[in-house]
Amino acid sequence: MDILQNLVHMTGQRDHLRLEFSVLSTLLQLPDVTQVRALEIHPFEGLFWVRPRTWLENGQLVSSEYDFLHDPQREPLSTLPHLKDGLERKLTQIKHQTDAGTHTLWLPVWMNEQARVCIELTQSAPVTEHSMDILLAIFQVYRNYQSLLDYSERDALTGLLNRKTFDEHLLRLSSSCSKHPDRPTQPWLAVIDIDHFKQVNDRYGHLFGDEVLILMANLLRSCFGSQHRVFRFGGEEFVVLLHPMTQEDANRALEQFRVTVENYDFPQVGRVTVSVGFSGASTRLPSPTQLIGQADEALYYAKENGRNRVCHYETLKQLGVFDKHQQVTHDDVELF
Ligand code: GH3
Ligand code: MG
Ligand code: MG
Repeated sequence: MDILQNLVHMTGQRDHLRLEFSVLSTLLQLPDVTQVRALEIHPFEGLFWVRPRTWLENGQLVSSEYDFLHDPQREPLSTLPHLKDGLERKLTQIKHQTDAGTHTLWLPVWMNEQARVCIELTQSAPVTEHSMDILLAIFQVYRNYQSLLDYSERDALTGLLNRKTFDEHLLRLSSSCSKHPDRPTQPWLAVIDIDHFKQVNDRYGHLFGDEVLILMANLLRSCFGSQHRVFRFGGEEFVVLLHPMTQEDANRALEQFRVTVENYDFPQVGRVTVSVGFSGASTRLPSPTQLIGQADEALYYAKENGRNRVCHYETLKQLGVFDKHQQVTHDDVELF
């Protein structure tokens, strides 16, 4: 009955992290379960790494306050060799008994041939067949519900995160940064807009236009990977939230993306370029809208000054570009 109530609770969640808490606390109700964790797995610098994202501590479920890269609990996946082996064999259940007699069960969350999250259960006795049935049913409800949540958070054409989820991601990132104000890095927000995209539609038709958007999303995913967050904000405009790094590194990453696009051969359409405006997303900033406004101003400057370039808001501001710019083209700025 407790489990049933937990399932009701699970499917009432509107957020991935809360859903994770809910499924873990449901699994904790099963007999002999002594520890539950949600593990996150990512490739980085040619290796797979793992870190606990949520776990049980003094009877309470807690979640890591770090982003993946900065998490001191992050370790090479090879520290869990049985899990690593099971993942390489694409298994859906991985079991292991330690010398101390505890039993570990891993349930990877497979999505497009990748498992970026894995539920881990530690039990003091082997899982009975009956428990296993219940356990797998709970896991399946979690999977189904998770893909529903995912669907509501993503853009249908490109599969990127949609605008609706942006504020929450920004808030999470800045609150994790405010816990470590001593770091010399900060997160960055970049607005990316395709140059003369209307001409692509006019010349080749909407279908080819859509294909460019899908390919652009793929390039964004491959350049910014799983460490950063990429959103489709609407039309042919994308937003990237870069995890904490120095200004030089942010500029380098965005410049690299710009060049990748410039050199990419889009089927039929050929060459396409992008303009990029970016701004520091430090915790001092008053609101997400203001932050986007700043990156947008830098983007507008890039558009006005040749397109196919990356512009940094704070640098332009120091140069006094916006004072002049707003005097000269005040009407345009308001229209934009
Ligand atoms: P600029 O370099 O100044 O950004 O010029 P632009 O032509 O890209 O700018 P503008 O904002 O005028 O045009 C954007 C176009 O994007 C207009 C619209 O037809 C097109 N668009 C928006 N959403 C979609 C979509 O989902 N699919 C396709 N194919 N086109 C879209
Ligand atoms: Mg455009
Ligand atoms: Mg646009």
